Amino acid sequence: MKVFYRTEMSADSGGYSPSAGKPDQVVSDWLSSESLKAEIEIVSDFDPVTIDDIKRVHDSDFVDGIMSLEIANGHGNTSAEVRDTLLWTSGSLYAGCVAALSDGVSCSPTSGFHHSCYDDCHGFCTFNGLMVAAAKVIDEGLAKDVLIVDFDAHWGDGTADILKKFPALLSAVDNLHASDLPASEFLDWIEDVLSLGPRPDLVIYQAGADLHEDDPLHAGYLNSEQMRLRDRLVFKWCKDEGIPVCWNLAGGYQRDEDGGISKVLDIHRATAEEAIY
Ligand SMILES: [Zn+2]
Repeated sequence: MKVFYRTEMSADSGGYSPSAGKPDQVVSDWLSSESLKAEIEIVSDFDPVTIDDIKRVHDSDFVDGIMSLEIANGHGNTSAEVRDTLLWTSGSLYAGCVAALSDGVSCSPTSGFHHSCYDDCHGFCTFNGLMVAAAKVIDEGLAKDVLIVDFDAHWGDGTADILKKFPALLSAVDNLHASDLPASEFLDWIEDVLSLGPRPDLVIYQAGADLHEDDPLHAGYLNSEQMRLRDRLVFKWCKDEGIPVCWNLAGGYQRDEDGGISKVLDIHRATAEEAIY
């Protein structure tokens, strides 16, 4: 499985969410796992998206304000370090989508997309890389129907907002949010909703780690084994149906006593294992 990663994708946001720093941390974690290391290929020779790619789905003044540091990013600050990751994280997801179309599965170790609206941002998300990548593969004729399987704990309000602004994208992109059913029913629901829905040309799977029962922003949902089953069901459906899937990280806020994110890394590692096997 190709993993589209460059160090330019990571930054210390200086805030509550560890998401901006996760590309470095998850890739380092995966490369320290003997079994995963043998199954992943780190790809670094991809391009960042352009400002025009971002403006395809966002308001021009909003994009300019973020890039000039006059508008606060999704972490609520004007960090140049975070700004400098933004074209790379969307570039990673787009490159991952293109690779998935030929390889079947790929990974973009990125977060910080789905709360980014057309002309506003919040919730540790700045530009909506999900919509940037989806619009780009559709505009380039690489896919006609894209399904965003957004199994982060939180509703992708930014994705929905952008889809409302662009009727042509709304007919080409479906945004599937995780149900708030109890865990046992949620896993059955995944099988039903995927098998009964329209069959897309490409799936972008947000495997958010914050659906975990111990997550401080969404405690009381899935345990670690159920998180793994969630991933298994999505990847199995894609594989059985022959649908290309590029997955990314999204949320996850558990902290160790020393401030580390080992529990979040455990969840993302499990998703990587399910994507491969
Ligand atoms: Zn979330």
